[in-house]
Amino acid sequence: MSCIFCRIVNKEIPAKVVYEDDRVLAFHDINPQAPYHILVIPKKHLSTLLEISEEDKELIGHIYMTINKIAQDLGFAERGFRVVVNCKEEAGQTVFHVHFHVLAGRPMDWPPG
Ligand code: AMP
Ligand code: ZN
Repeated sequence: MSCIFCRIVNKEIPAKVVYEDDRVLAFHDINPQAPYHILVIPKKHLSTLLEISEEDKELIGHIYMTINKIAQDLGFAERGFRVVVNCKEEAGQTVFHVHFHVLAGRPMDWPPG
């Protein structure tokens, strides 16, 4: 299995996990871009956002519920946070297993770079 995030799901590569259940995994980004930088991923391998289909609708809703829970648990819900998904190369996607970046703990610029 060559997908690095599938290998994290399968515990073949270590990660600093902050939340896990049967459908999702959340862990600290190895190269944080903010004081909090968590990646929330479906355990199911989907390469990009474009692979999400009808059968994944509940899963995607569950990911956003998980993001809310993490924001509460880590204490940045009140201040606010940003969720980013990069889709394909032009957007800056480098790992081709869908992941939701959750960034918090500093003011965010807009528009993003
Ligand atoms: P993207 O550029 O949107 O595809 O984001 C990929 C993210 O995965 C980057 O922020 C990387 O720092 C992060 N990343 C890559 N490998 C690992 C790893 N082994 N553990 C945690 N985060 C990783
Ligand atoms: Zn994968």
